[in-house]
Amino acid sequence: MGKLDGRRAVVTGGASGIGRGIAELFAREGAVVAILDRNEAQAEAVAEGIRAAGGAASAFACDVSDENAVATAFALVKAEIGAVDILVNNAGILRDVPFEELSITEWDRMIATNLRSVFLCTRQVIGGMRARKWGRIINTASQLGHKGSPMLVHYASAKAGVIGFTKSLGHEVARDGVTVNAIAPGVIETPMGADITPAGRAAKEAELPIGRFGRVDEVVEAALLLASDAGSYFIGSTVNMNGGDYMI
Ligand code: NDP
Repeated sequence: MGKLDGRRAVVTGGASGIGRGIAELFAREGAVVAILDRNEAQAEAVAEGIRAAGGAASAFACDVSDENAVATAFALVKAEIGAVDILVNNAGILRDVPFEELSITEWDRMIATNLRSVFLCTRQVIGGMRARKWGRIINTASQLGHKGSPMLVHYASAKAGVIGFTKSLGHEVARDGVTVNAIAPGVIETPMGADITPAGRAAKEAELPIGRFGRVDEVVEAALLLASDAGSYFIGSTVNMNGGDYMI
C-alpha cells in the first residue's frame, strides 16, 4: 500500500533536483505522476526512469511562467492522467544579482518563473479539487522567503510571495478538503547551486548549525506528508528544513 495510491500528481520542475526527488518518491508511493518542465529531454528521462522502476509517469514540456503554455500542458495532462489531485509548484530559478544591477527584465523573469507560475498552475486545478472535496497544493518556497538575502532581492521577494500565496489560498479553500502548504528548504545539493566555489561552499557549511548542505532525500519526505491523507491538518503552513540556518 502506497501513501498516494490512486492519486494523480503534477510536479513542476520535476526534471531535476528537488522536483525530480518528489516525482520519484510520489511515484514509489503509488501516484500517477505528470512531470512539467521546460527541460523536455530531462523530464522524459526522469519519467522513463520511474516507469522502469515500475511506477507511472509521463513528461510534458512546459514553461510554467507562460499562461498559454500552462493551459496547453494541463489540458494534455488531464487528457492523459485525468483530474489532478496533487499539484507541486516547484519549478524555479536562482541568479545572484546586486540590486542596482537588477534589470526590470530580470526582475520580471524571476517573479514570473517563481511566483506567477504558482498562480497559473494552481488555477488550472483548484476548481476541480474543490468540487471533488479533496486536493493538495504544495509549493516549494525557500528559507530566503523568510530571512531574505543580499544579491537575491528578486528571488527572496518571489519566495516571500509564495509563502503569502500559500497562507491566503490555504485559508480560502480549507473547508473544501483542499490543503495548500509550502516547503521551505535551506541550501540543498541540486544542479541549482552547483556553481558554488569550493571555498564558498566551505564557508557556507561552516555557518550552518548542522555543518553541511542538505540532500534532496531530506526534503522530499515533507512534501509526501503534505500530499498524503496524513497531512490533512496542515493548512497554509510552511515546513522549514534548513539544517538550522534559519530557525522559526
Ligand atoms: P533545479 O535547477 O535542480 O531544478 C529546477 C527545475 O525547474 C529544472 O529542471 C528547471 O529547468 C526547471 N524550470 C526552471 N524554470 C522553469 C520554467 N519557467 N518552466 C518549467 N520548468 C522550469 O533546482 P532545485 O531542485 O534546486 O530547485 C527546485 C525548487 O526549490 C525551486 O523553486 C528553488 O527555488 C527551490 N529551492 C531550492 C533550494 C536549493 O538549495 N536547491 C533551496 C530553497 C528552495 P532548467 O534546468 O532548464 O532551468
